[in-house]
Amino acid sequence: MEYKILCFPITMPFGNTENTVYPTLLWDKQNIILIDCGFIGALPILEKELQGHGLSTEQLTGLVLTHHDHDHMGAAAALKRANPNIKVYASAAEAPFISAQKKPLRLRQAEEIQKTLPPEQQDFGKAFCDMLRLVEPVGVDELFQDRDHKDWCGGCRIISTPGHTPGHISLLMDKDSIVITGDAIALEDGLPVIANPQYALNLEQAATSMEKLLALKAKAYLCYHGGICSLTD
Ligand SMILES: [Zn+2]
Repeated sequence: MEYKILCFPITMPFGNTENTVYPTLLWDKQNIILIDCGFIGALPILEKELQGHGLSTEQLTGLVLTHHDHDHMGAAAALKRANPNIKVYASAAEAPFISAQKKPLRLRQAEEIQKTLPPEQQDFGKAFCDMLRLVEPVGVDELFQDRDHKDWCGGCRIISTPGHTPGHISLLMDKDSIVITGDAIALEDGLPVIANPQYALNLEQAATSMEKLLALKAKAYLCYHGGICSLTD
């Protein structure tokens, strides 16, 4: 095996429904890098998925966080406790919200929205704010800038894709023409869309970032929400 790029599901109950997200694993001879790690409490599911590929959390060498939302970094602190050697990567703009040096912007936004919710939605809004407060911060070990490059899996380019959050990043796997989108693109009914546009912290930027990724004309887009999108097939 030279390397593998794997996209696998993590499914967790969410109220009366369930929610599935798709972290990606970059696995080569030197590195086993996870891109985003799922919700609060997702570590056991993550461990099981890794076991399915003959891996354990102790073998992970890195965790890239595309941004600070709970469904992307919810399990990060638990993962770092399970494997203190794992190196956490995020953009310089996003890191203060991941490490809670600054109050997470998503929590600020949820608290603002909460003030405007009609009475029948107050309980849901409060539960959402409470859940965001439970996201454990994690320290970021290495800061990414736009265009940074790593030798992971034949070459990995960091692409700044702000909008959903100010420091959001996506990853371009040069050799295989694969983009790991994070929430810069979601897949809905087989089509690329802006993830939860109503919650984008800057919608105009989010639209530009999605266009920027689509303009790469990659063979596949691995969307954290929705899974694999192949536009050229
Ligand atoms: Zn998300």
